[in-house]
Amino acid sequence: MKRIVNFSAGPATLPLEVLQQVQAELLDWNGSGMSVMEMSHRDKEFMSIAQAAEQDLREVMNIPANYKVLFMQGGATAQFSLVPMNLLRGKTGADYIVTGDWGKKAAKVAAQLCTVNIAASSEADKFTGIPEPSSWKLDPNAAYVHITPNETIHGVEFHTEPDTLGVPLVADMSSNILSRPVDVSKYGLIYAGAQKNIGPSGVTIVIVREDLIGETLPKTPALFDYKQVADNDSMLNTPPCFAWYVAGLVFKWIKRQGGLAVIAERNRHKAALLYDYIDGEDFYTNPVRKVDRSRMNVPFTLANPELDGEFLKGAKAAGLSGLKGHRSVGGMRASIYNAMTIEGVQQLVDYMKEFVRTRG
Ligand code: PMP
Repeated sequence: MKRIVNFSAGPATLPLEVLQQVQAELLDWNGSGMSVMEMSHRDKEFMSIAQAAEQDLREVMNIPANYKVLFMQGGATAQFSLVPMNLLRGKTGADYIVTGDWGKKAAKVAAQLCTVNIAASSEADKFTGIPEPSSWKLDPNAAYVHITPNETIHGVEFHTEPDTLGVPLVADMSSNILSRPVDVSKYGLIYAGAQKNIGPSGVTIVIVREDLIGETLPKTPALFDYKQVADNDSMLNTPPCFAWYVAGLVFKWIKRQGGLAVIAERNRHKAALLYDYIDGEDFYTNPVRKVDRSRMNVPFTLANPELDGEFLKGAKAAGLSGLKGHRSVGGMRASIYNAMTIEGVQQLVDYMKEFVRTRG
């Protein structure tokens, strides 16, 4: 078996231990005589898997008791609509802070359902940082303030929660959930697609303060109503059972690592390794303001873009994959989520050095 070092932005690399456990349990989960893929979601076996996953996530993220944890489908993209459907609560508008393409998309989708106020945007600066909070034009009557704590394409990350003056903070944490401890009580709602730090695609986590749910837009279908989903333990219909199960194994893996404080320190170290090298080498550039740089997604360009193809080809030959930058920005991007090892990042840096030596 030869595993590649996978820098894909998502679906992304998973902890090897977790994959091995999935493999070991694939045909016969815990003496049940069947795969998790084959179980009824109403059977006690799957119920125990589902409940353990929620409990472990609550423990790992230290989620307060007055928050519901939902295991939904439709990816983060579905949440772009579900958030306004559920959180407007009689109000007419919401504030969006746009620091990259994902936040921009979320705002555009929400605008189909409510008045969207772009309270701040860094688009004029090509999404290379977070606008100074003092410049944000927050509306005190907004139903919520939406941020994208980590912009996966541009590699821009919030390192602290903004002060939203009492208006509930909503965060699309798809690409940095579980990468460090967060104070969940500072958020009204957190959502995240699974396929970066949680597990396989197909399950979407929603963590929501319970007093914010139960008042949807008229005609909201039950499946899209957080309150009804919560009241039915995310099983109004057949949930994404296998993805939910693997997510649960990832939460247990995080616990075995020592929890989010240990994971955060490792992520800090990995990001520093890569950024320090890029900053010290003229051939490579990362355009993001240092204080706003992502610890999860590191975009960089080569001094000569004509060498991009050769860089990627050589990387592949060296066992490094998934480095092509998003089509909207070009260049390269190394996604270094929780499951990426320090050794993997070191291999990338070694390859980048070698490329400069031979081709730079
Ligand atoms: N938000 C962010 C920050 C993302 O990185 C992504 C996926 N890359 C999405 C939303 C969209 O996620 P999904 O494909 O799960 O709908």
